[in-house]
Amino acid sequence: MVFEGVGKPLRLVEHATPEPAAGELLLRVRACGVCRTDLHLHDGEVEIADPPRVLGHQIVGEVEGDERRVGVPWLGWTCGECMYCTSGRENLCERARFTGRDIDGGFAEWSIADGRYCFPIPEGLADEDAAPLLCAGLIGYRSLRMCGEARRIGFYGFGAAAHILCQVAAWQEREVYAFTWPGDRGTQSFARDRGAVWAGGSDEPAPEALDAAIVFAPDGSLVPTALRAVRPGGVVVCGGIHMSEIPAFSYDDLWGERVLRSVANLTRRDGDELLELAPRVPIETSVTTYPLERVNEALEDLREGRFDGAAVIIP
Ligand SMILES: [Zn+2]
Ligand SMILES: [Zn+2]
Repeated sequence: MVFEGVGKPLRLVEHATPEPAAGELLLRVRACGVCRTDLHLHDGEVEIADPPRVLGHQIVGEVEGDERRVGVPWLGWTCGECMYCTSGRENLCERARFTGRDIDGGFAEWSIADGRYCFPIPEGLADEDAAPLLCAGLIGYRSLRMCGEARRIGFYGFGAAAHILCQVAAWQEREVYAFTWPGDRGTQSFARDRGAVWAGGSDEPAPEALDAAIVFAPDGSLVPTALRAVRPGGVVVCGGIHMSEIPAFSYDDLWGERVLRSVANLTRRDGDELLELAPRVPIETSVTTYPLERVNEALEDLREGRFDGAAVIIP
């Protein structure tokens, strides 16, 4: 299912099975998660320099010829030699190439990936349950790490990433306060089921001063809201690749050594850590599956918030 230009539906086309180069793996795609970033790419908010392109960057694939299952994340390639790559921050590499943006991704029957950036998938984890861990889980995990030792954490937006990270945070004996669309009782009850100690609308004040907040929703107006909900010294982490404009806010909201930061991409260390944790928590994902030719419908359902948890494509 190929992206051919901004705003156009992905189109079903037939390609020859790709040929792996040295160091690359040929993967039979067993599942591929749908991420909010796929919508940003589709809508042109994150640019694809060189279409046509196969989107999809949460691939669970079976290595052709040896039955091993591997996961392919957003980070598809890095240079290995710049100041970021050599200091544990390969997520910031300026020459990085991303799966489903610069490299063809997993909304396909077959995919190719650089073996050095793939993760082994733990045994016992179903394909469709593993797929959302590979971006929603990973980048959410990185966001959670940026919260340091925070005990009370607000989650603004409760979709694919939040429903995974809520379980990790609860397992780490932290308290999650989930903020959803005002009046979205269904998602609020979903959040409580996943371990949130409180759930309410983003227009409601936090019931306790928070130590940290993660803004998962791509809505810049939530940033000042989150800053006002954290105590002095607290941190607000923006967990998405794109966000609408952040409105002006008073310096009082940042005063008291509050920290506002973004999280960019992932490192392989984030992936190793989360996939090691997943069976121990254990993380249970809520997924809605779609066949490959219905990926456009999955994207629209994500845009409209028609499911809880994550959407996964099964070729
Ligand atoms: Zn680099
Ligand atoms: Zn993603």
